[in-house]
Amino acid sequence: MKYLITGGCGFIGSHLAEKLLLSGSDVTVIDDLSTGSLDNIKEIMHHEKFHLFIDTILNSVLLEEMIQKVDFVFHLAAVVGVKRVMDNPVDSIIINVEGTYNVLRLCAKHNKKTLLASTSEIYGKNTNVPFKEDADIVIGTTKKKRWSYACTKAIDEFLAFAFFEEKNFPVIVIRLFNTVGPRQSDKYGMVIPRFIKQALNNQPITVFGDGKQTRCFSHVKDIVDGMINLIIKEDAYGQVFNMGSEEEVTIEELAIAIKEMTKSASEIICINPQEIYSKGFEDMSRRMPDITKIRDMTNFSPQYNIKDIIRDCIEDVKKNRIS
Ligand code: UDP
Repeated sequence: MKYLITGGCGFIGSHLAEKLLLSGSDVTVIDDLSTGSLDNIKEIMHHEKFHLFIDTILNSVLLEEMIQKVDFVFHLAAVVGVKRVMDNPVDSIIINVEGTYNVLRLCAKHNKKTLLASTSEIYGKNTNVPFKEDADIVIGTTKKKRWSYACTKAIDEFLAFAFFEEKNFPVIVIRLFNTVGPRQSDKYGMVIPRFIKQALNNQPITVFGDGKQTRCFSHVKDIVDGMINLIIKEDAYGQVFNMGSEEEVTIEELAIAIKEMTKSASEIICINPQEIYSKGFEDMSRRMPDITKIRDMTNFSPQYNIKDIIRDCIEDVKKNRIS
């Protein structure tokens, strides 16, 4: 099989590329390196079945050439992290809307099976956890920049399903809940790499608000396996699936666990996130997936618990600090 991964130098994309190469597949990647990096793919860069194009998904001419040559497209290229959305609101909207429109319309034109990576951010401020795929989208005001991300991803999903209906476009949408693991950068706000770096440097661990908000974290390896197992199910096309863990932790518990596991002398402090982000930040109090649908389809069952995830991430941060 020949695969194209948009955003293949990113944190999730690079793990997916590695796994597909291991199974003997041919992998082409397009990435503009805006948040992905060559470091992420250094282990596979010289693999004979790996092909890299450093370019943007806004380049439709190149994109069309690539799409024509492959059997399947994983569309993962998107803006990453709350911090980046807050710092670069215009670029974030353009890449998620225009870039994804390019990918979807060309995949639909050439009738290529496609997986679109969407986000749990879509559920927004809905408090009715765990979220089922058909739950309402509850988004804040357009004056709060964070919500632009959820809105652009909702447009992407609408577009995917519109192409599915009108053109029989074989597409699957997945909504990823907080995915973490080795190689995730702390630069874009992601809490686990941030806390680990703070802890290893004996700096204060910065819990936003009162730390009672919760998240469910999954290991990137469980997510990559979940994607690969899903795309072989013919019944999955035209549908949307939550993908994530059901293990809910508060951010305060997370900070304590990371402090303990790194044997850090860091103090855990509660701060107002507006000190880090510009105005327009709003947090979600709980975010938890209902994964019945994907479990029924593929037996999806995450193998890594929160301690395993933290342990892997600590090792990765330590390794990269030394090398
Ligand atoms: N968070 C925190 N301190 C940080 C970074 C994040 O307390 O330094 C919190 C954030 O407010 C949110 C959770 O950790 O409640 C997860 O944040 P992240 O940006 O990783 O992902 P989100 O789920 O918000 O998209």
